[in-house]
Amino acid sequence: MSGAARAETRFQGAGVSPGIARGKVHVVRDDLDDVARYRIERSQIAHEIGRFEAALIQTRVQILEMQQKIAHSIGAKDASIFDAHLLVVEDRTLIDEVLRKLETDLCNVEWVFQEVATKYVETLSKMDDPYLRERALDIQDVMKRVIHNLQGKAPKPFLALTEPHILIAHNLTPSDTATMQKERVLGIATDLGSRTSHTAILARSLNIPAVVGLHNATDILETGQEVLVDGTNGLIIVDPKPETLAYYGELESRRIRVVAKLKELRETKSTTRDGHHIVLSANIELPEDVNAVSEFGAEGIGLYRTEFLYLNRQTLPSEDEQYQTYRRVAESVAPNPLIIRTFDLGGDKLAPGTVEISDELNPFLGWRAIRFCLENIGIFKTQLRAILRASAVGNVKLMFPMISGADELRQAMSILHECRDELRAAGVTMGDAIECGAMIEIPSAAIAADILAHEVDFFSIGTNDLIQYAIAVDRVNERIAHLYEPTHPAVLRLLKMVADAAHTNGIWVGVCGEMAGDVALVPLLLGLGMDELSVAATLVPRVKRAVQSITIGESRELLERVLKLQTPSEVLARCLELANARYGDLLG
Ligand code: PEP
Ligand code: MG
Repeated sequence: MSGAARAETRFQGAGVSPGIARGKVHVVRDDLDDVARYRIERSQIAHEIGRFEAALIQTRVQILEMQQKIAHSIGAKDASIFDAHLLVVEDRTLIDEVLRKLETDLCNVEWVFQEVATKYVETLSKMDDPYLRERALDIQDVMKRVIHNLQGKAPKPFLALTEPHILIAHNLTPSDTATMQKERVLGIATDLGSRTSHTAILARSLNIPAVVGLHNATDILETGQEVLVDGTNGLIIVDPKPETLAYYGELESRRIRVVAKLKELRETKSTTRDGHHIVLSANIELPEDVNAVSEFGAEGIGLYRTEFLYLNRQTLPSEDEQYQTYRRVAESVAPNPLIIRTFDLGGDKLAPGTVEISDELNPFLGWRAIRFCLENIGIFKTQLRAILRASAVGNVKLMFPMISGADELRQAMSILHECRDELRAAGVTMGDAIECGAMIEIPSAAIAADILAHEVDFFSIGTNDLIQYAIAVDRVNERIAHLYEPTHPAVLRLLKMVADAAHTNGIWVGVCGEMAGDVALVPLLLGLGMDELSVAATLVPRVKRAVQSITIGESRELLERVLKLQTPSEVLARCLELANARYGDLLG
């Protein structure tokens, strides 16, 4: 069909990674959309039943293998969650219904099985009883496996694009995003998601324009359509008109000019106009992101999200593999610091196959990060030993995520000391003293920061989580994304408590959540007294320009004024006023 005949259409979402991309769409649909339906002869029924039985046996073997692996690596209790999956492949009612329907419908068995299993899933997921609703998820999981086996598909890697495309999906998990072929992804757009979802964070790190929260774009768009992604303003434009292309061409040239100017700041220091140095570091997710750290002029790494090492694999990373990775990253940023955050799996970052965290009703309030580590000390110690060994080269610091109080922090520190003593006794070389920090991302930790400050050398505030917990807004739920407000007076008060508690107790404090990369809020964070800001490497030049354009004096005045205000929008308006006056060109 000719593109000229089509009218331009627009979808509005939230822009989460700036920039413009143009190209053909590749719509990623759930694999099960691919299940073909075709008629069979009555004489073929026996053959279809044979295929079905073989697929059920194969599925059973796969589940048992997975169960054994988990029992071995994590524990029998966690492995028992697969008992429910085994029951599904043995469920006589379900199997008999498939056999009956094969006789009546005379269709291929994967289609018939999908029809029957989907009916079960729909019925069970409407039940009041949470146990029965859970069974719906079990059936869904097993259904995918059985159909994959019927189709002769191995659990396949996420997506193999043969040429550059704009990727459009209902949802992309952080593991999908981490494994996609980045050089073939021009832009990303998803129905779900929000600014602080880890998929958005990754897109920013990879410098790929991205729009999330489009609600139903995947229902409407077709693979092959021409689209333009405006990651700054959160727009997807389908079949853009020549005028639109001209407008965006102009915008992109302007953006490229601003980026080129910002590049000139690479070797300069992030020092305010009145001479205060603010440490400006980069956040990384994957070891290869390290090249961007010096390219964009960051002073080291303020947050290395090590959980990405555990995703998309069949076995846990060994101590040696982790050591080699951390060591390489530490060496490439030395003498600047590398702050390694111990792995934070759970929430929206799941690693099925290695770290099994069963489905939870509220995963962000669940078995996540340090909570998992303190119950899986073997896995935790492997990582801590690798970090301690890497501290022999470079300037390695370590921090613990999701600390909620002193007990947890003390336990984590005591396990760390145990690892250090064991390594020392074995004659392994380590750095003299490794600086240790706590991430402050749970309101209880912020409120009790004066207690926690005695236990560590620094605080790093994870505003992505701190804001979601403080306002009770799920950070990945686009329905309530408008309530996720970093300038909420309650958030400001929490940030102030943490900064004041750190300084009263003589330790330094930084912010490594996405709030630190919002140039409009930089003066506010400086006014609060933050010593360090850690942001996606690609945002470092912008934040540096913001720091260099203001004084600590005016930042403090701004803070004093906004602390008297009552609503997030009033606070934001004041921040924008100052930002506009000092570096308005960065805000567009
Ligand atoms: C945060 O919560 O702000 C943070 C930096 O950690 P993550 O985004 O990985 O949860
Ligand atoms: Mg966090």
